[in-house]
Amino acid sequence: MSATYDVVVVGLGGMGSAVAAELAARGLRVLGLERFGPAHDAGSSHGGSRMIRQAYFEDPSYVPLLLASYEGWRRVERDTGQPLLTLTGGLMMGAERSRTVAGSLRTARQWGLEHELLDAAALRRRFPTFTPGPHVVGLYEPQAGFVHPERSVGAHLALAERADAQLAFFEPVTSWQASASSVQVHTARASYSAGHLVLCPGAWAPELIEDLGVPLKVERYAQFWLDPVGGVTPYLPDRHPVFVWELEDGRQVYGFPALDGPGGGCKTAFFRGGALCTPATIDRRVYEYEVEAVRDSLRSRLPTLAGPMLRAVTCMYTCTPDHHFVVGRHPDHPQVTVACGFSGHGFKFVPVVGEIVADLVTEGSTGHPTALFDPSRPRPA
Ligand SMILES: Cc1cc2nc3c(=O)[nH]c(=O)nc-3n(C[C@H](O)[C@H](O)[C@H](O)COP(=O)(O)OP(=O)(O)OC[C@H]3O[C@@H](n4cnc5c(N)ncnc54)[C@H](O)[C@@H]3O)c2cc1C
Repeated sequence: MSATYDVVVVGLGGMGSAVAAELAARGLRVLGLERFGPAHDAGSSHGGSRMIRQAYFEDPSYVPLLLASYEGWRRVERDTGQPLLTLTGGLMMGAERSRTVAGSLRTARQWGLEHELLDAAALRRRFPTFTPGPHVVGLYEPQAGFVHPERSVGAHLALAERADAQLAFFEPVTSWQASASSVQVHTARASYSAGHLVLCPGAWAPELIEDLGVPLKVERYAQFWLDPVGGVTPYLPDRHPVFVWELEDGRQVYGFPALDGPGGGCKTAFFRGGALCTPATIDRRVYEYEVEAVRDSLRSRLPTLAGPMLRAVTCMYTCTPDHHFVVGRHPDHPQVTVACGFSGHGFKFVPVVGEIVADLVTEGSTGHPTALFDPSRPRPA
């Protein structure tokens, strides 16, 4: 069997679902191919919540993309009737000179983003679950909150189908070839021709995009749901912010309010430091020493959060050396666009990544600032 499309999108996870929806909305004949089912938990886009924030400590040049993403989230909510983005406010905590605090402050000031800098006493008064030591400060950002990853994938898949995209699940792509004007995509079931190929394979990128130029490493992370001691009431999303807290050793522990109410717990995890893995070799068990390390980091900071573990789930980051994404034309194949290497912080950008990739496919360029994501950028020394 063989069929011809304007564009084949490989991978219908967080990014690919948005790319397929945007391309189909622009009138292209789209085929989406996905290894697993819709909104599964074997990749990078599951676990019920993803943090979203604007005072980006990573780099101020993400801000225009973040602002476009917020608009995008609200648009998808309107178009599908699905609530996706919840603002709770966010606290970026640590020593005044820590990357988390100083970087967030720099970005907030540079872009005139609404924020407050709170000292330890003010933090304890405003947010009584937090027990910071005297040298800790917090940047409070009212526009921070969380988005819902599984619902986002479902909403974008629904939009794609509504705009006549064809979506095939449980159909992994085994290989592809590109010429100057077209691409061939092969699965166990069929071969497809298209004018353009978009690769959004998440943690499978190293095996599907061998000659990308940017080295990618896949890392394993565990997310833990802890049951707050004394009950969830102080942690409900109408009164508790999302937070990132940088420890003295540079590690960052982060957490969410009790999104699911009593019995659901609060999700917490470390941001970096995951073990190298591949999608085939990742250890999906979660060990007592791992949850104990997270609890240990919380005991002196949010003591009531360091309660019993209700559940835990593993997830993968696909990391570039500089932790900036890879979004752009494949260096060797003008008919191939890649969106991968989201390095553990991509989800909040899903709607704008959909727009950028659709711009690249339909126009050959994008008005969004994407220099950081150039597949041909120099590697950090
Ligand atoms: C624990 C954890 C916490 C995170 N927290 C945050 C956060 O708070 N805020 C934030 O912004 N980001 C966060 N992220 C990062 C964010 O979730 C990811 O950047 C994002 O989900 C990546 O989306 P993706 O589409 O690249 O990958 P995925 O959603 O995994 O999609 C890739 C898809 O490609 C499919 N696929 C792969 N190979 C093939 C093939 N050969 N054929 C067909 N299909 C294929 C896969 O099955 C999968 O469905 C977190 C990630 C993790 C793991």
